[in-house]
Amino acid sequence: MVAAGQTVHAFASRIVSSRYIGQTMNDSLIAKSGQLVLFRMGLVSVVLGTLVMMAAPRVHDAIPIYIGYPLGVMLAIGGTVFLATRIRCPHCHARIIWEALRRNPGGLHEALHREGCASCGHVPGPRPLL
Ligand SMILES: [Zn+2]
Repeated sequence: MVAAGQTVHAFASRIVSSRYIGQTMNDSLIAKSGQLVLFRMGLVSVVLGTLVMMAAPRVHDAIPIYIGYPLGVMLAIGGTVFLATRIRCPHCHARIIWEALRRNPGGLHEALHREGCASCGHVPGPRPLL
């Protein structure tokens, strides 16, 4: 569980450290395929879960740590699994984030902003106005 927690921490901090996130992603495959909302939901879950894990030992008087910590772990791991499995190419259904992590974890930032699919090369048309 500790190893999994550390992996999630590293994953979350790597995403959070890309400060242009959400602003320069408008032309990305993820945004154009309408998955930016899903992406942000997953991201919020990972960040929130990480914060809950960090806060759990400090608020154990109010919330027992055996509730707080597992809750944080669930949010963080759930968010990571959600991002890795649900964000897909609309054309070939490749798991965009999972593939990026599997091939080259350091290239995650680039993968999030890529305009086309790394697996099939599909580039979606202009983003529909919401
Ligand atoms: Zn594809």
